[in-house]
Amino acid sequence: MTGASIAPSEIRARLAAVQTRIRTAEASYGRAPGSVGLLAVSKWQAPDKIRTALAAGQAAFGESYVQEATGKMDILGGPELQWHFIGRIQGNKTRHIAEHFDWVHSLCDLKHARRLNEQRPAGLPPLTVCVQVNPDGEPGKAGLAPAQVADFVAACAELPQLKLVGLMALPAPMEGEIPKRRPFRALRLLRDRIATPELPLPMLSMGMSADLEAAIAEGATLVRVGTAIFGPRTG
Ligand SMILES: *Cc1c(COP(=O)(O)O)cnc(C)c1O
Repeated sequence: MTGASIAPSEIRARLAAVQTRIRTAEASYGRAPGSVGLLAVSKWQAPDKIRTALAAGQAAFGESYVQEATGKMDILGGPELQWHFIGRIQGNKTRHIAEHFDWVHSLCDLKHARRLNEQRPAGLPPLTVCVQVNPDGEPGKAGLAPAQVADFVAACAELPQLKLVGLMALPAPMEGEIPKRRPFRALRLLRDRIATPELPLPMLSMGMSADLEAAIAEGATLVRVGTAIFGPRTG
């Protein structure tokens, strides 16, 4: 986790450029100004880079590997940091996730949901969660089939230590605006179908470095951006 040499000034410039992309896309696609948040994906990036982004005003960071993330939390500490787990959940790691993270974007197994609910320490606010969907049914990829999502959401809503706020997707990279937008639109339409007044599911966690504009066009409320901010990952 040494990180490619990328100067703090370059990280600040890249972060500002991503913010500009987000604001520009909001304006282009008729989204309210400030309605799209930025999660800085810091997996396989050195703690120094996170520190630089934090000092520049970025507070929410996404990590995919529990051990790597908790190591960084020990180094960086600080209540001003918000940690989002975006990786594949392993059954034997749910306790660490429940104890150390603020958000989970990748929930798609009811067994994991029940464990996170049980293991969330009582002194902490409920764990904020998004349900991961695999809108194109890509084989081998995490996420629920669209037809499973309504029942899953209803079951999760019964778990008091989870706060279910929306859906997440990680579609395959595509070329061209229309192909890029299609899975994001599918996620939004699915959300619109299953949302209820009691459970409005306002968050759509979708869009990354290469396709955040397409995701914002289709209603993303939180884009997850790694390499465009921090440069290439160095595991
Ligand atoms: C790595 C990762 C990202 C960030 O991808 P970039 O292409 O570096 O922006 C976003 N979401 C998830 C779930 C990831 O694993």
